[in-house]
Amino acid sequence: MSAFDPAVFSRNSRFEVDHLKIASVSASALVADFGSPLFVVDEEDFRSRASHWKSALEEAFGESAGTVYYAAKSFISKEVARWVDQVGIGLDVCTGGELAVAEAIGFPAGRVELHGNNKSEDEIRIAISYGVHTIVIDSFFEIERVARIASELGVVQRVYIRVTPGVEAHTHEFISTAHEDVKFGFSLASGAAWDAISAIRAENSLRLMGLHSHIGSQIFESEGFAAAAAKLITLLARFKDTYGHELSELDLGGGYGIAYLPGEETLDPSRILNELADIVKRECASAQISVPIISIEPGRAIVGPTTTTLYTVGTTKDVELDGGLSRRYIAVDGGMSDNIRPALYGAEYIAIVANRLPLGPNRNSRVVGKHCESGDIIIREIELSADIQPGDILAVPATGAYGYSMASNYNHVPRPAVVAVNQGNARVIVRRESISDLLALEN
Ligand SMILES: *Cc1c(COP(=O)(O)O)cnc(C)c1O
Repeated sequence: MSAFDPAVFSRNSRFEVDHLKIASVSASALVADFGSPLFVVDEEDFRSRASHWKSALEEAFGESAGTVYYAAKSFISKEVARWVDQVGIGLDVCTGGELAVAEAIGFPAGRVELHGNNKSEDEIRIAISYGVHTIVIDSFFEIERVARIASELGVVQRVYIRVTPGVEAHTHEFISTAHEDVKFGFSLASGAAWDAISAIRAENSLRLMGLHSHIGSQIFESEGFAAAAAKLITLLARFKDTYGHELSELDLGGGYGIAYLPGEETLDPSRILNELADIVKRECASAQISVPIISIEPGRAIVGPTTTTLYTVGTTKDVELDGGLSRRYIAVDGGMSDNIRPALYGAEYIAIVANRLPLGPNRNSRVVGKHCESGDIIIREIELSADIQPGDILAVPATGAYGYSMASNYNHVPRPAVVAVNQGNARVIVRRESISDLLALEN
């Protein structure tokens, strides 16, 4: 398991003779120059994945292709927002903080969408003043709130309704239920979504453009998306029957799966979107409505595979297990503060030695962090070379999504730097936090 597998590393990563290089920069040089732990983003890989989702949506849906909104929550920084802008896709933000990143670089407001189940009045006011293209409404309170603020600002705000269609998808399976016990959106089955439509139509300062649904994350099959799309299309058909004209937009959210482990495969945008297009066109034909403008919100699928975390090994320890077995604990200089996903979701990763060619044999190992918590585990079980020593660099691939964006200061550990690499050059896009940054908050 400790061999380099190109399928889980960023596109421009190579293992050259005896060390890892990302976009022609060696892992050792990166750690020497920028310290560790370090998030290393393969810039060209990010841009090409973002472009691929855009072209795949256009090819699959033709005239009905809407916008690819990159989900900022997966990882956003000013530089990443510039890349998103330059590629020509949109940005999905769900807090004032994420919106502030967009504003800071002058991201075109016409390509921003605002989400969130509990947007504050300030967030709504700032978003409307900025001119965001669409606000996705999540509750009845919010209909009144967004309408009032838009009216105070003298704006007619374009909105979507977030619908919970009764489809939950988890990787390879999806579950269809009448009611979903979740905090997001208006339920389709209970009639809440229909009531929200009439409530929004009654507001002069709101213009209902379409429906939105997001059914989960790390999904590999089209069935879940298809089931959700079919249910939303039923609602669009009911709208047409009732009001005599069509609601013309449908946003199918994000959730496209990526490879974390050898043997897994990152979803191909063209394949999944072509499948979705077939289903949407078929369902629309049978419901006798036009194919709506289709937008999507991939986050993980754009940034996840582009990033590798580099750690330095600090200590190792052999622990005896029952039955005469043993396990080597390999402790690195980060942990659950820069990657909470294993602790939060049981997410699995791999690691390789990045600074030299490890010499077998392998040992049953566990890669852990430096936090005061037994659950501070990056990789629960992995075969790693028995000669791993303090000072070695471990590379953990596919950490671009929900790594830095979920990072914390647990144990007063400063957050890592994020470095972008491209064609032999490396530059900091988010500087390493310092202890003084942390203490600056405190009286
Ligand atoms: C989280 C989220 C996304 C992005 O999900 P990924 O799994 O990263 O693609 C998109 N839309 C909404 C509404 C979300 O909550």
